[in-house]
Amino acid sequence: EKADLLAVTERVIRNFKMIHQQFDFNFQYDPNQAYDIQMSENHLEQVLIIVFDNAIKYSDRIYKVDIRLKQEKGRAMLTVKDYGIGIPKEDLPQIFHRFYRVDKARSRAKGGNGLGLAIAKQLTEGYSGTIEAASEVGKGTEIRFTFPLVAKQKTGGKEGVSKK
Ligand code: ATP
Repeated sequence: EKADLLAVTERVIRNFKMIHQQFDFNFQYDPNQAYDIQMSENHLEQVLIIVFDNAIKYSDRIYKVDIRLKQEKGRAMLTVKDYGIGIPKEDLPQIFHRFYRVDKARSRAKGGNGLGLAIAKQLTEGYSGTIEAASEVGKGTEIRFTFPLVAKQKTGGKEGVSKK
């Protein structure tokens, strides 16, 4: 399956913008590149919603989310950065585990089960993608994805003679 990472990211940002109008969403990408990845569009959208939802849920003072998309070493790299409460270093390795929530009291007030990131990781890795987090308490959190790009379709020439 194939998904246009750029188009799906733009769509998710557009929807979040409508619901969270106090937030600033900055999206940067190279418009000269293609970002087709090997992933179900539905699953990709689900993953992005989980991560955007967290960025918003755990922002307290600065309502800004920076999204970057680029190509690196044959993969698409997507980062989603917030300026929220951050995650303590000792909790960082656990946030992708099922039912893990940092500071139970703090997280409970925000709602949720601690399942979102576990699901996001499982879906991403199911398509040979990677997901990791970098964070600093009081500064914010950055979620970094890489996805395998779909090889460019060759047109013309001998290799181009392919039939369905
Ligand atoms: P849900 O199951 O609804 O997603 P959740 O947000 O608690 O609930 P996860 O998305 O799995 O669950 O996140 C796990 C924990 O990691 C959260 O409880 C929160 O403490 C921390 N966390 C995740 N994203 C961020 C973020 N952007 N900033 C700060 N903390 C975060």
